[in-house]
Amino acid sequence: MMELKGKKVLVVGLGKSGLAAALFLRHQGAQVTVSDVRSAQALAKDIPALLDEGIMVEAGGHGLLTFRRQDLIVVSPGVPMDTPELVQARGFGLPVIGELELAARFLQGKMLAITGSNGKTTTTALLGEILKDAGFPTLVGGNIGVPVVGLIGESTPDTWSVLEVSSFQLESTVEFHPAIAVILNITPDHLDRHGSFENYARAKERIFAVQNQHDSLVLNADNDRSAEAASRSAAPVYLFSVEHSVEQGAWLEEGFVVYRPSKDAPIEQVMPLGGIPLKGTHNVENVLAAVVAARLAGATVETIRKAIEGFRAVEHRLEYVATVNGVEFYNDSKATNVDATAKAVASFSGGIHLILGGKDKGSDYTLLSQLLRERVSAIYTIGAAAAKIESHLRGVVSIHSCETLEKAVSAAASAARPGEVVLLAPACSSFDQFESYEHRGRVFKQLVSERRGFKEWQHA
Ligand code: ADP
Repeated sequence: MMELKGKKVLVVGLGKSGLAAALFLRHQGAQVTVSDVRSAQALAKDIPALLDEGIMVEAGGHGLLTFRRQDLIVVSPGVPMDTPELVQARGFGLPVIGELELAARFLQGKMLAITGSNGKTTTTALLGEILKDAGFPTLVGGNIGVPVVGLIGESTPDTWSVLEVSSFQLESTVEFHPAIAVILNITPDHLDRHGSFENYARAKERIFAVQNQHDSLVLNADNDRSAEAASRSAAPVYLFSVEHSVEQGAWLEEGFVVYRPSKDAPIEQVMPLGGIPLKGTHNVENVLAAVVAARLAGATVETIRKAIEGFRAVEHRLEYVATVNGVEFYNDSKATNVDATAKAVASFSGGIHLILGGKDKGSDYTLLSQLLRERVSAIYTIGAAAAKIESHLRGVVSIHSCETLEKAVSAAASAARPGEVVLLAPACSSFDQFESYEHRGRVFKQLVSERRGFKEWQHA
Protein backbone atom coordinates (compact mmCIF):
# COMPACT_ATOMS: atom_id res chain seq x y z
CA MET A 1 0.00 0.00 0.00
CA MET A 2 1.33 3.43 -0.88
CA GLU A 3 1.86 6.17 1.73
CA LEU A 4 -0.24 9.24 1.00
CA LYS A 5 0.36 11.35 4.10
CA GLY A 6 1.85 14.70 3.15
CA LYS A 7 2.02 13.76 -0.53
CA LYS A 8 0.94 16.26 -3.17
CA VAL A 9 -1.78 14.66 -5.24
CA LEU A 10 -3.67 16.13 -8.19
CA VAL A 11 -7.09 14.76 -9.10
CA VAL A 12 -8.01 15.46 -12.72
CA GLY A 13 -11.72 15.63 -13.47
CA LEU A 14 -14.38 16.27 -10.87
CA GLY A 15 -16.99 13.63 -11.70
CA LYS A 16 -18.48 11.32 -9.10
CA SER A 17 -15.27 9.24 -9.02
CA GLY A 18 -12.99 12.29 -8.98
CA LEU A 19 -14.87 13.76 -6.03
CA ALA A 20 -14.74 10.49 -4.11
CA ALA A 21 -11.03 10.10 -4.89
CA ALA A 22 -10.23 13.66 -3.74
CA LEU A 23 -12.00 13.16 -0.42
CA PHE A 24 -10.37 9.77 0.13
CA LEU A 25 -6.89 11.15 -0.59
CA ARG A 26 -7.49 14.10 1.73
CA HIS A 27 -8.62 11.80 4.54
CA GLN A 28 -5.39 9.87 4.05
CA GLY A 29 -3.50 13.10 4.75
CA ALA A 30 -2.52 14.07 1.22
CA GLN A 31 -2.39 17.68 -0.01
CA VAL A 32 -5.01 17.51 -2.70
CA THR A 33 -5.75 19.73 -5.69
CA VAL A 34 -8.60 19.08 -8.10
CA SER A 35 -8.41 20.36 -11.68
CA ASP A 36 -11.29 20.39 -14.13
CA VAL A 37 -11.82 22.06 -17.50
CA ARG A 38 -15.38 22.95 -16.61
CA SER A 39 -16.07 26.43 -15.25
CA ALA A 40 -16.30 27.25 -11.54
CA GLN A 41 -19.99 27.86 -12.18
CA ALA A 42 -20.51 24.38 -13.59
CA LEU A 43 -18.71 22.86 -10.60
CA ALA A 44 -20.40 25.12 -8.06
CA LYS A 45 -22.26 22.41 -6.21
CA ASP A 46 -19.09 20.49 -5.27
CA ILE A 47 -16.60 23.30 -4.67
CA PRO A 48 -17.65 24.41 -1.15
CA ALA A 49 -17.42 20.85 0.22
CA LEU A 50 -13.94 20.48 -1.27
CA LEU A 51 -12.71 23.81 0.10
CA ASP A 52 -14.11 22.92 3.53
CA GLU A 53 -11.95 19.81 3.49
CA GLY A 54 -8.88 21.86 2.59
CA ILE A 55 -8.80 20.66 -1.01
CA MET A 56 -7.70 23.20 -3.62
CA VAL A 57 -9.80 23.55 -6.75
CA GLU A 58 -8.70 24.71 -10.19
CA ALA A 59 -11.66 25.23 -12.52
CA GLY A 60 -12.06 26.38 -16.12
CA GLY A 61 -8.92 24.69 -17.48
CA HIS A 62 -5.70 22.97 -16.46
CA GLY A 63 -2.73 25.14 -15.49
CA LEU A 64 0.51 23.65 -16.79
CA LEU A 65 2.32 24.13 -13.49
CA THR A 66 -0.51 22.40 -11.65
CA PHE A 67 0.61 19.18 -13.31
CA ARG A 68 4.28 19.57 -12.41
CA ARG A 69 4.39 20.10 -8.66
CA GLN A 70 2.82 16.78 -7.73
CA ASP A 71 3.86 13.41 -6.33
CA LEU A 72 0.91 11.61 -7.92
CA ILE A 73 -1.83 12.33 -10.45
CA VAL A 74 -5.18 10.55 -10.20
CA VAL A 75 -7.39 10.68 -13.28
CA SER A 76 -11.19 10.36 -13.39
CA PRO A 77 -12.55 7.82 -15.88
CA GLY A 78 -14.15 10.62 -17.90
CA VAL A 79 -10.77 12.17 -18.74
CA PRO A 80 -8.83 10.60 -21.65
CA MET A 81 -5.32 9.42 -20.76
CA ASP A 82 -3.98 11.14 -23.87
CA THR A 83 -5.01 14.59 -22.63
CA PRO A 84 -1.89 16.73 -23.45
CA GLU A 85 -1.29 17.75 -19.82
CA LEU A 86 -1.27 14.09 -18.74
CA VAL A 87 1.04 13.04 -21.56
CA GLN A 88 3.42 15.80 -20.55
CA ALA A 89 3.24 14.90 -16.85
CA ARG A 90 4.12 11.30 -17.65
CA GLY A 91 6.97 12.67 -19.75
CA PHE A 92 8.29 14.35 -16.58
CA GLY A 93 8.15 10.99 -14.83
CA LEU A 94 5.11 11.70 -12.65
CA PRO A 95 3.00 8.65 -11.77
CA VAL A 96 -0.43 8.97 -13.39
CA ILE A 97 -3.11 6.49 -12.29
CA GLY A 98 -6.89 6.15 -12.53
CA GLU A 99 -9.41 6.13 -9.70
CA LEU A 100 -9.87 2.36 -10.02
CA GLU A 101 -6.13 1.76 -9.65
CA LEU A 102 -5.95 4.05 -6.62
CA ALA A 103 -8.88 2.26 -5.00
CA ALA A 104 -7.60 -1.20 -5.80
CA ARG A 105 -4.41 -0.47 -3.87
CA PHE A 106 -6.38 0.21 -0.67
CA LEU A 107 -9.40 -2.05 -0.95
CA GLN A 108 -9.28 -5.04 1.41
CA GLY A 109 -10.54 -8.53 0.57
CA LYS A 110 -11.10 -9.98 -2.87
CA MET A 111 -12.35 -8.37 -6.04
CA LEU A 112 -14.76 -9.82 -8.57
CA ALA A 113 -14.59 -7.50 -11.56
CA ILE A 114 -16.95 -7.40 -14.52
CA THR A 115 -16.31 -5.66 -17.82
CA GLY A 116 -17.76 -5.92 -21.33
CA SER A 117 -19.37 -3.71 -23.94
CA ASN A 118 -22.85 -4.55 -22.68
CA GLY A 119 -24.43 -6.23 -19.69
CA LYS A 120 -22.01 -4.98 -17.03
CA THR A 121 -24.55 -3.32 -14.76
CA THR A 122 -27.06 -6.14 -15.02
CA THR A 123 -24.45 -8.82 -14.29
CA THR A 124 -22.80 -6.83 -11.52
CA ALA A 125 -26.12 -6.20 -9.78
CA LEU A 126 -27.07 -9.88 -10.11
CA LEU A 127 -23.71 -11.09 -8.77
CA GLY A 128 -23.98 -8.65 -5.88
CA GLU A 129 -27.34 -10.19 -4.96
CA ILE A 130 -26.07 -13.76 -5.27
CA LEU A 131 -22.99 -13.21 -3.10
CA LYS A 132 -25.04 -11.35 -0.46
CA ASP A 133 -27.56 -14.20 -0.41
CA ALA A 134 -24.68 -16.64 -0.06
CA GLY A 135 -23.83 -14.86 3.20
CA PHE A 136 -20.52 -13.39 2.03
CA PRO A 137 -19.67 -9.86 3.17
CA THR A 138 -20.31 -8.15 -0.17
CA LEU A 139 -19.82 -4.63 -1.51
CA VAL A 140 -20.98 -3.51 -4.95
CA GLY A 141 -19.56 -0.53 -6.82
CA GLY A 142 -17.53 0.89 -9.66
CA ASN A 143 -19.46 2.23 -12.61
CA ILE A 144 -22.62 1.22 -10.77
CA GLY A 145 -23.61 3.26 -7.70
CA VAL A 146 -20.62 4.02 -5.48
CA PRO A 147 -17.16 4.65 -7.03
CA VAL A 148 -14.63 2.00 -5.97
CA VAL A 149 -12.74 4.41 -3.65
CA GLY A 150 -16.02 4.85 -1.80
CA LEU A 151 -15.97 1.15 -0.82
CA ILE A 152 -12.54 1.18 0.83
CA GLY A 153 -13.77 2.29 4.26
CA GLU A 154 -16.22 -0.61 4.56
CA SER A 155 -13.96 -3.31 3.14
CA THR A 156 -12.42 -6.00 5.38
CA PRO A 157 -10.11 -8.93 4.59
CA ASP A 158 -13.24 -11.12 4.13
CA THR A 159 -15.05 -8.78 1.75
CA TRP A 160 -15.98 -9.61 -1.83
CA SER A 161 -16.08 -6.37 -3.80
CA VAL A 162 -18.18 -6.87 -6.91
CA LEU A 163 -17.04 -4.18 -9.33
CA GLU A 164 -18.40 -2.95 -12.63
CA VAL A 165 -15.40 -1.64 -14.56
CA SER A 166 -15.35 0.17 -17.90
CA SER A 167 -12.69 0.26 -20.58
CA PHE A 168 -11.94 3.85 -19.52
CA GLN A 169 -11.14 2.74 -15.99
CA LEU A 170 -9.11 -0.25 -17.15
CA GLU A 171 -7.08 1.81 -19.61
CA SER A 172 -4.84 3.10 -16.83
CA THR A 173 -4.59 0.18 -14.39
CA VAL A 174 -1.22 -1.06 -13.17
CA GLU A 175 -1.65 -3.33 -10.13
CA PHE A 176 -5.43 -3.86 -10.32
CA HIS A 177 -5.81 -7.55 -9.54
CA PRO A 178 -9.26 -9.15 -9.37
CA ALA A 179 -9.46 -12.74 -8.10
CA ILE A 180 -12.26 -13.32 -10.57
CA ALA A 181 -12.50 -11.32 -13.79
CA VAL A 182 -15.37 -11.47 -16.28
CA ILE A 183 -15.36 -10.17 -19.87
CA LEU A 184 -18.99 -10.45 -20.95
CA ASN A 185 -18.45 -9.48 -24.57
CA ILE A 186 -16.39 -7.11 -26.68
CA THR A 187 -18.25 -5.40 -29.50
CA PRO A 188 -17.60 -1.98 -31.08
CA ASP A 189 -18.30 0.94 -28.71
CA HIS A 190 -16.57 4.18 -27.72
CA LEU A 191 -14.49 4.14 -30.89
CA ASP A 192 -14.57 7.95 -30.71
CA ARG A 193 -12.46 7.73 -27.56
CA HIS A 194 -10.33 4.60 -28.01
CA GLY A 195 -9.48 5.23 -31.65
CA SER A 196 -9.79 1.66 -32.89
CA PHE A 197 -11.64 -1.52 -31.99
CA GLU A 198 -8.36 -3.22 -31.15
CA ASN A 199 -7.33 -0.44 -28.71
CA TYR A 200 -10.72 -0.72 -27.05
CA ALA A 201 -10.47 -4.51 -26.82
CA ARG A 202 -6.95 -4.28 -25.39
CA ALA A 203 -8.15 -1.85 -22.71
CA LYS A 204 -10.77 -4.40 -21.66
CA GLU A 205 -8.14 -7.15 -21.54
CA ARG A 206 -6.29 -5.22 -18.86
CA ILE A 207 -8.85 -6.68 -16.44
CA PHE A 208 -6.74 -9.86 -16.30
CA ALA A 209 -3.29 -8.38 -16.94
CA VAL A 210 -2.06 -9.01 -13.38
CA GLN A 211 -3.94 -12.27 -12.75
CA ASN A 212 -2.02 -15.49 -12.07
CA GLN A 213 -2.79 -19.22 -11.89
CA HIS A 214 -4.64 -18.81 -8.56
CA ASP A 215 -7.22 -16.47 -10.12
CA SER A 216 -10.01 -17.11 -12.63
CA LEU A 217 -11.02 -15.50 -15.88
CA VAL A 218 -14.56 -15.88 -17.25
CA LEU A 219 -15.04 -15.36 -20.99
CA ASN A 220 -17.92 -15.54 -23.49
CA ALA A 221 -17.38 -18.49 -25.84
CA ASP A 222 -19.92 -17.05 -28.29
CA ASN A 223 -18.19 -13.67 -28.68
CA ASP A 224 -15.02 -14.02 -30.77
CA ARG A 225 -13.12 -11.10 -29.29
CA SER A 226 -13.91 -12.13 -25.72
CA ALA A 227 -13.03 -15.80 -26.30
CA GLU A 228 -9.80 -14.91 -28.06
CA ALA A 229 -8.47 -13.26 -24.88
CA ALA A 230 -7.99 -16.77 -23.43
CA SER A 231 -4.70 -17.12 -25.28
CA ARG A 232 -3.22 -14.25 -23.24
CA SER A 233 -4.49 -15.31 -19.81
CA ALA A 234 -2.20 -16.57 -17.06
CA ALA A 235 -5.29 -17.53 -15.01
CA PRO A 236 -7.43 -20.59 -15.76
CA VAL A 237 -10.23 -19.68 -18.16
CA TYR A 238 -13.91 -20.58 -17.67
CA LEU A 239 -16.37 -20.10 -20.49
CA PHE A 240 -20.09 -19.56 -20.89
CA SER A 241 -22.13 -20.17 -24.01
CA VAL A 242 -25.78 -20.07 -25.07
CA GLU A 243 -24.86 -22.10 -28.16
CA HIS A 244 -22.86 -25.15 -27.11
CA SER A 245 -21.31 -26.99 -24.17
CA VAL A 246 -17.93 -25.89 -22.78
CA GLU A 247 -15.16 -27.77 -20.97
CA GLN A 248 -15.45 -25.77 -17.76
CA GLY A 249 -18.12 -23.15 -17.20
CA ALA A 250 -21.82 -22.74 -17.91
CA TRP A 251 -24.10 -23.48 -20.87
CA LEU A 252 -27.64 -24.55 -21.78
CA GLU A 253 -28.67 -28.19 -21.98
CA GLU A 254 -32.17 -29.46 -22.63
CA GLY A 255 -33.80 -26.31 -21.35
CA PHE A 256 -31.58 -26.06 -18.26
CA VAL A 257 -28.74 -23.82 -17.20
CA VAL A 258 -25.88 -26.16 -16.31
CA TYR A 259 -22.40 -25.68 -14.84
CA ARG A 260 -19.29 -27.85 -14.80
CA PRO A 261 -16.35 -26.83 -12.60
CA SER A 262 -13.79 -28.76 -14.64
CA LYS A 263 -13.58 -31.04 -17.64
CA ASP A 264 -13.94 -34.31 -15.72
CA ALA A 265 -16.31 -33.14 -12.99
CA PRO A 266 -20.02 -34.01 -13.01
CA ILE A 267 -22.39 -31.50 -14.60
CA GLU A 268 -24.47 -29.48 -12.10
CA GLN A 269 -28.03 -28.56 -13.03
CA VAL A 270 -28.58 -24.95 -11.90
CA MET A 271 -32.13 -24.03 -13.02
CA PRO A 272 -34.59 -24.29 -15.90
CA LEU A 273 -34.19 -21.64 -18.57
CA GLY A 274 -37.82 -20.65 -18.00
CA GLY A 275 -36.95 -19.65 -14.43
CA ILE A 276 -34.90 -16.65 -15.60
CA PRO A 277 -37.13 -13.61 -15.08
CA LEU A 278 -35.30 -11.33 -17.59
CA LYS A 279 -36.19 -10.86 -21.25
CA GLY A 280 -33.86 -11.67 -24.16
CA THR A 281 -31.01 -14.07 -24.96
CA HIS A 282 -28.49 -11.41 -23.96
CA ASN A 283 -29.79 -11.67 -20.42
CA VAL A 284 -29.35 -15.45 -20.53
CA GLU A 285 -25.71 -14.70 -21.37
CA ASN A 286 -25.49 -12.39 -18.35
CA VAL A 287 -27.02 -15.08 -16.14
CA LEU A 288 -24.58 -17.74 -17.40
CA ALA A 289 -21.64 -15.42 -16.71
CA ALA A 290 -22.98 -14.77 -13.21
CA VAL A 291 -23.45 -18.49 -12.55
CA VAL A 292 -19.81 -19.19 -13.42
CA ALA A 293 -18.43 -16.29 -11.36
CA ALA A 294 -20.67 -17.07 -8.39
CA ARG A 295 -19.73 -20.77 -8.36
CA LEU A 296 -16.05 -19.76 -8.52
CA ALA A 297 -16.60 -17.44 -5.55
CA GLY A 298 -18.13 -20.36 -3.64
CA ALA A 299 -21.89 -19.73 -3.75
CA THR A 300 -24.02 -22.88 -3.85
CA VAL A 301 -26.19 -23.83 -6.82
CA GLU A 302 -29.28 -23.49 -4.63
CA THR A 303 -28.41 -19.92 -3.57
CA ILE A 304 -27.62 -18.96 -7.15
CA ARG A 305 -30.93 -20.32 -8.46
CA LYS A 306 -33.00 -18.50 -5.83
CA ALA A 307 -31.17 -15.20 -6.33
CA ILE A 308 -31.67 -15.34 -10.10
CA GLU A 309 -35.37 -16.16 -9.72
CA GLY A 310 -35.83 -13.13 -7.47
CA PHE A 311 -33.89 -10.70 -9.70
CA ARG A 312 -35.66 -7.99 -11.74
CA ALA A 313 -34.42 -5.94 -14.73
CA VAL A 314 -32.38 -2.93 -13.72
CA GLU A 315 -34.14 0.33 -14.69
CA HIS A 316 -33.62 1.43 -18.35
CA ARG A 317 -32.37 -2.07 -19.35
CA LEU A 318 -35.13 -3.49 -21.53
CA GLU A 319 -37.54 -2.40 -18.83
CA TYR A 320 -41.25 -3.06 -19.41
CA VAL A 321 -43.13 0.23 -19.05
CA ALA A 322 -46.81 -0.30 -19.87
CA THR A 323 -49.34 -1.62 -22.35
CA VAL A 324 -51.48 1.11 -23.91
CA ASN A 325 -54.16 0.19 -26.44
CA GLY A 326 -52.69 -3.31 -26.67
CA VAL A 327 -49.23 -1.90 -27.58
CA GLU A 328 -46.35 -2.79 -25.26
CA PHE A 329 -43.79 -0.09 -24.44
CA TYR A 330 -40.21 -1.01 -23.47
CA ASN A 331 -37.53 1.35 -22.18
CA ASP A 332 -34.00 0.30 -23.15
CA SER A 333 -32.50 3.79 -22.93
CA LYS A 334 -29.25 2.15 -21.80
CA ALA A 335 -28.89 0.61 -25.28
CA THR A 336 -26.31 3.23 -26.20
CA ASN A 337 -24.49 1.20 -28.84
CA VAL A 338 -25.39 -0.85 -31.88
CA ASP A 339 -24.90 -4.26 -30.28
CA ALA A 340 -27.17 -3.49 -27.32
CA THR A 341 -29.84 -2.31 -29.75
CA ALA A 342 -29.43 -5.49 -31.80
CA LYS A 343 -29.93 -7.57 -28.64
CA ALA A 344 -33.01 -5.57 -27.68
CA VAL A 345 -34.55 -6.01 -31.15
CA ALA A 346 -33.73 -9.72 -31.08
CA SER A 347 -35.70 -10.06 -27.83
CA PHE A 348 -39.01 -9.56 -29.69
CA SER A 349 -40.26 -11.69 -32.55
CA GLY A 350 -41.59 -8.84 -34.70
CA GLY A 351 -43.89 -5.83 -34.99
CA ILE A 352 -41.33 -3.50 -33.42
CA HIS A 353 -41.56 0.28 -33.71
CA LEU A 354 -38.01 1.27 -32.85
CA ILE A 355 -36.85 4.67 -31.66
CA LEU A 356 -33.23 5.28 -32.69
CA GLY A 357 -30.83 8.20 -32.36
CA GLY A 358 -29.07 10.60 -30.03
CA LYS A 359 -25.38 11.41 -30.04
CA ASP A 360 -23.40 9.27 -32.46
CA LYS A 361 -20.24 7.49 -31.23
CA GLY A 362 -18.74 6.71 -34.61
CA SER A 363 -21.04 3.68 -35.00
CA ASP A 364 -21.92 1.62 -38.05
CA TYR A 365 -25.72 1.37 -38.08
CA THR A 366 -25.77 -0.79 -41.22
CA LEU A 367 -24.98 -3.68 -38.84
CA LEU A 368 -28.64 -3.53 -37.82
CA SER A 369 -30.01 -3.94 -41.38
CA GLN A 370 -30.74 -7.66 -41.32
CA LEU A 371 -32.46 -7.64 -37.92
CA LEU A 372 -34.49 -4.56 -38.80
CA ARG A 373 -35.70 -6.17 -42.02
CA GLU A 374 -36.81 -9.26 -40.08
CA ARG A 375 -38.49 -7.73 -37.06
CA VAL A 376 -38.97 -3.98 -37.23
CA SER A 377 -42.03 -2.32 -38.80
CA ALA A 378 -40.59 1.19 -38.78
CA ILE A 379 -37.88 3.30 -37.19
CA TYR A 380 -38.35 6.74 -35.65
CA THR A 381 -35.17 8.82 -35.57
CA ILE A 382 -34.29 11.49 -33.03
CA GLY A 383 -31.35 13.68 -32.15
CA ALA A 384 -28.02 14.59 -33.72
CA ALA A 385 -27.32 11.15 -35.20
CA ALA A 386 -30.60 11.04 -37.16
CA ALA A 387 -29.17 11.98 -40.57
CA LYS A 388 -26.37 9.41 -40.31
CA ILE A 389 -28.74 6.66 -39.17
CA GLU A 390 -31.14 7.47 -41.99
CA SER A 391 -28.39 7.36 -44.60
CA HIS A 392 -27.17 3.99 -43.24
CA LEU A 393 -30.65 2.45 -43.14
CA ARG A 394 -32.39 3.99 -46.14
CA GLY A 395 -34.25 1.31 -48.09
CA VAL A 396 -34.01 -1.17 -45.20
CA VAL A 397 -37.16 -0.18 -43.29
CA SER A 398 -39.58 2.69 -43.33
CA ILE A 399 -38.11 5.73 -41.59
CA HIS A 400 -39.89 8.54 -39.76
CA SER A 401 -37.72 11.58 -38.94
CA CYS A 402 -39.04 12.80 -35.60
CA GLU A 403 -36.22 14.94 -34.17
CA THR A 404 -37.51 14.74 -30.59
CA LEU A 405 -38.39 11.84 -28.34
CA GLU A 406 -41.79 13.36 -27.77
CA LYS A 407 -42.65 13.29 -31.48
CA ALA A 408 -41.16 9.83 -31.85
CA VAL A 409 -43.29 8.35 -29.05
CA SER A 410 -46.36 9.97 -30.46
CA ALA A 411 -45.71 8.79 -34.05
CA ALA A 412 -44.74 5.26 -32.98
CA ALA A 413 -47.71 4.92 -30.65
CA SER A 414 -50.12 6.02 -33.39
CA ALA A 415 -48.63 3.65 -35.95
CA ALA A 416 -48.35 0.56 -33.71
CA ARG A 417 -51.23 -1.93 -33.76
CA PRO A 418 -52.37 -4.05 -30.80
CA GLY A 419 -49.84 -6.81 -30.14
CA GLU A 420 -46.97 -4.70 -31.45
CA VAL A 421 -44.15 -3.11 -29.49
CA VAL A 422 -42.75 0.41 -29.15
CA LEU A 423 -39.11 0.09 -28.18
CA LEU A 424 -36.70 2.84 -27.14
CA ALA A 425 -33.27 1.28 -27.83
CA PRO A 426 -31.52 4.22 -29.46
CA ALA A 427 -27.97 2.84 -30.19
CA CYS A 428 -26.55 6.26 -29.29
CA SER A 429 -25.60 8.16 -26.18
CA SER A 430 -28.03 10.76 -24.90
CA PHE A 431 -25.96 13.88 -24.40
CA ASP A 432 -27.26 15.82 -27.40
CA GLN A 433 -30.79 16.21 -25.99
CA PHE A 434 -30.65 14.80 -22.44
CA GLU A 435 -28.47 14.94 -19.34
CA SER A 436 -27.96 11.18 -19.34
CA TYR A 437 -29.48 7.92 -20.51
CA GLU A 438 -31.43 7.82 -17.22
CA HIS A 439 -32.94 11.19 -18.00
CA ARG A 440 -33.86 10.01 -21.52
CA GLY A 441 -35.43 6.84 -20.11
CA ARG A 442 -37.46 8.76 -17.54
CA VAL A 443 -38.75 11.19 -20.19
CA PHE A 444 -39.77 8.18 -22.30
CA LYS A 445 -41.64 6.61 -19.39
CA GLN A 446 -43.32 9.92 -18.65
CA LEU A 447 -44.46 10.27 -22.28
CA VAL A 448 -45.83 6.72 -22.19
CA SER A 449 -47.69 7.32 -18.96
CA GLU A 450 -49.20 10.51 -20.40
CA ARG A 451 -50.55 8.43 -23.29
CA ARG A 452 -52.00 6.00 -20.81
CA GLY A 453 -53.59 8.87 -18.92
CA PHE A 454 -54.99 10.22 -22.18
CA LYS A 455 -56.50 6.82 -23.00
CA GLU A 456 -58.11 6.50 -19.58
CA TRP A 457 -59.46 9.99 -19.85
CA GLN A 458 -60.95 9.16 -23.29
CA HIS A 459 -62.68 6.08 -21.91
CA ALA A 460 -63.95 7.84 -18.81
P1 ADP B 1 -23.54 -1.91 -19.25
O1 ADP B 1 -23.40 -1.59 -17.82
O2 ADP B 1 -22.41 -2.74 -19.79
O3 ADP B 1 -23.89 -0.77 -20.13
P2 ADP B 1 -26.27 -2.88 -18.84
O4 ADP B 1 -26.59 -4.06 -18.02
O5 ADP B 1 -26.53 -1.54 -18.27
O6 ADP B 1 -24.75 -2.99 -19.31
O7 ADP B 1 -27.00 -3.01 -20.24
C1 ADP B 1 -26.69 -2.08 -21.27
C2 ADP B 1 -27.51 -2.31 -22.49
O8 ADP B 1 -27.11 -3.50 -23.15
C3 ADP B 1 -28.97 -2.49 -22.24
O9 ADP B 1 -29.61 -1.89 -23.32
C4 ADP B 1 -29.21 -3.98 -22.21
O10 ADP B 1 -30.50 -4.32 -22.62
C5 ADP B 1 -28.14 -4.46 -23.19
N1 ADP B 1 -27.51 -5.71 -22.75
C6 ADP B 1 -27.50 -6.23 -21.51
N2 ADP B 1 -26.76 -7.34 -21.48
C7 ADP B 1 -26.26 -7.52 -22.72
C8 ADP B 1 -25.41 -8.52 -23.32
N3 ADP B 1 -24.92 -9.54 -22.63
N4 ADP B 1 -25.11 -8.37 -24.65
C9 ADP B 1 -25.61 -7.35 -25.36
N5 ADP B 1 -26.43 -6.40 -24.86
C10 ADP B 1 -26.75 -6.48 -23.55
